[in-house]
Amino acid sequence: MKTSLKDEFLSTLDGKKAEEILRRCVHCGFCNATCPTYQELSDERDGPRGRIYLIKQMLENGEATEKTRTHLDRCLTCRSCETTCPSGVEYSQLLDIGKQHIEKLVPRSFSDRTLRYGVTRILPNASWNKVMFRLARQFTFLMPDTFREQIPTEQPLKSYPSATKTNRTMIAFRGCVQQTATPNTVKAAKAVLSHLGIELIEVAQEGCCGAVNLHLSEHERAVQQAKRNIDVWWRYLEHGAEAIVMSASGCGVTIKDYPQLLVESPYYRERALVIAEKAKDLSEILLAEDLTQLPLKTSNERVAVHCPCTLQHGMKNKETYYEVLRRLGVEQTRKSEDHLCCGSAGTYSLFQPELSQQLLKRKMKALSEGDPEGIVTANIGCQLHLGSKAQVPVKHWIELIAERLEN
Ligand code: SF4
Ligand code: SF4
Repeated sequence: MKTSLKDEFLSTLDGKKAEEILRRCVHCGFCNATCPTYQELSDERDGPRGRIYLIKQMLENGEATEKTRTHLDRCLTCRSCETTCPSGVEYSQLLDIGKQHIEKLVPRSFSDRTLRYGVTRILPNASWNKVMFRLARQFTFLMPDTFREQIPTEQPLKSYPSATKTNRTMIAFRGCVQQTATPNTVKAAKAVLSHLGIELIEVAQEGCCGAVNLHLSEHERAVQQAKRNIDVWWRYLEHGAEAIVMSASGCGVTIKDYPQLLVESPYYRERALVIAEKAKDLSEILLAEDLTQLPLKTSNERVAVHCPCTLQHGMKNKETYYEVLRRLGVEQTRKSEDHLCCGSAGTYSLFQPELSQQLLKRKMKALSEGDPEGIVTANIGCQLHLGSKAQVPVKHWIELIAERLEN
């Protein structure tokens, strides 16, 4: 695609990146076929090709309207379009640049800004979100249905059979919402890895990965969070920790993208490249191990396996995920539309409730095709979102495996 971006913008790193991405797009429209919002709304401006064009116009003319912002806000950043694109267009990077621009060109209303401010201050802080969830549970009668259903019920803490002898160490990334809403996920991961000789350690000083701030265009806050995490993890890696284990793929994809996020800071970018290499989804860790060492009971439970967008389109880890579940003997049911987002998408369910619910309904139908007894997933946001409507239990897949460990 031909571009004529403004000179002053072209002289910046973002400008050069945007031009490179825009020029790669040949406008073929293949990506529209796998875009959930295009599928639901049938509007060119709610598909990736249309959004690319809207961003191009804005970067060339320095002008945008509320309508432009609405179409960009409706994007889930699921990156399904990136998986489909034959030209390797890095759509999500272009969208990040576009979103930062439009925040300056088209200011939001006071109520919108207040809600976004609250979410970016409370959600990424585990102590604060714990208090918020507790309070919200007391006042659910005041909330609309879609909000009420998103409040996680308090999870009773479980214990899983663990091995005591370990000779290797890895860092558990706990995630700010995951550690509050589903604390059993990391407990289950610790138990399973202990049987493989790996101790999973929790690092109190780490904070949010930055995903919430990135979703809501608070770029600088995300940069600060990334730098803080890198400083904290670096010390543990220097003392022999082999990897940073991600049990929430939404956080995983953000951390894998730290080198891009920190592109303007050479010192941190260099370290971010190492961190991105050391950050691994839990399924990647297990695939490299001898899983026959795990003392697992056999089970005939039939589950529908949900593959989060951040895992399949962001981290490109879909095959590994399914292969690990197959090796662990998980009986999987039939389902369709695996590539389509469930509508959770970070904070999307809060800011685009209608579209989010439409996508959830569609995903639940697809996951129910094989009449499963349960649903497993690999990301906290999807787990809570699917759990709000599912008729069967929804859990993280590692919990399913830990429940099958022999005493
Ligand atoms: S598939 Fe790729 S090249 Fe084709 S329109 Fe979409 S982003 Fe552009
Ligand atoms: S990221 Fe997802 S919702 Fe956004 S344009 Fe791409 S496919 Fe569509």
